[in-house]
Amino acid sequence: MSQKEKPKNLIDGRKISRQVKEEVKEKIEELKKLHDKSPGLAVIIVGDRPDSRTYVNMKKKACAFVGIKSFERKLEVDVTQEELIKIVREYNENPEINGILVQLPLPKHIDEEEILSQISLTKDVDGFSPYNIGKCAMKGRDPLFFPCTPYGCIQLLKRSNVEISGKEAVIIGRSNIVGLPVSFLLLKENATITICHSRTKDIASTVKRADIIIAAVGIPKFVKAEWVKEGAVIIDVGINSVEDKTRKSGRRLVGDVDFENVKEKASLITPVPGGVGPMTVAMLMVNTLRGFERSLESEQKEKENEKEKEN
Ligand code: NAD
Repeated sequence: MSQKEKPKNLIDGRKISRQVKEEVKEKIEELKKLHDKSPGLAVIIVGDRPDSRTYVNMKKKACAFVGIKSFERKLEVDVTQEELIKIVREYNENPEINGILVQLPLPKHIDEEEILSQISLTKDVDGFSPYNIGKCAMKGRDPLFFPCTPYGCIQLLKRSNVEISGKEAVIIGRSNIVGLPVSFLLLKENATITICHSRTKDIASTVKRADIIIAAVGIPKFVKAEWVKEGAVIIDVGINSVEDKTRKSGRRLVGDVDFENVKEKASLITPVPGGVGPMTVAMLMVNTLRGFERSLESEQKEKENEKEKEN
């Protein structure tokens, strides 16, 4: 889509993510001047999936921009569970690393839950641990890290001046990494939430109630214009590769929303690509900075304790 053709009601995820990254970069520069240290993010990638490689490269590029040191470990697809756990533990112990990310999905012979549970809670910048998700669900509690994609959705709404409190939000999808945590975060913002999923009987009429729609289904163009109330705000999390013979690659990315038709009814809508995707990476930068700030705070406390002991 050319610059000129952009609809007026578009939420520009690229632009907002750039603002977020600029803020992170500024803060990191400030902390570097004070402490002569920078944050570090470790990414572990298993196998050679092209989509995983693309995501990891996007993350590395963002790290370079904001001033986070990237550590990367590429492992063969037949790596054992024990070897993988050993690497996660090494990173847990490494003081230069403030965030650890295991790129998903992992090969079938690896127990994903077990691997993720090995990441130190203070370095779980993806925010996927049951501890973090539990705190997202609880009133008055904040997790150590908000999960990146749901956090990105909330930031898109807030930075587009969308009032969330008191609004009807319908979330389509209940996965542990998107649908469920984004519902908790909307509840924290005082929205009235409804979660639809594969067993929901009448999605169309449920979605029709929504002031805010979050689509995280993984089905191309799933949300239809007839389901959408005039003026609703739509966040499309889906990333689906579909055939497109007009493209050199023969494929293109589309979201979970029938964008061309839905955009006529929405007051605001995110495109795919260029919506939630860039925000996920930006929020990973925010989380890594948060992990770094916490480690500086605990170093400071240790120093103060030692001084007290000396006196
Ligand atoms: P998932 O497959 O884990 O979950 C899909 C959810 O959709 C499930 O809860 C299921 O109940 C629901 N669902 C499936 N079929 C349905 C139907 N017919 N009607 C209603 N609900 C249905 O997927 P996920 O990991 O949550 O990802 C969802 C989409 O978001 C995918 O396209 C994925 O690529 C994308 N995604 C994007 C980002 C990003 O940064 N933009 C991050 C994560 C995932």
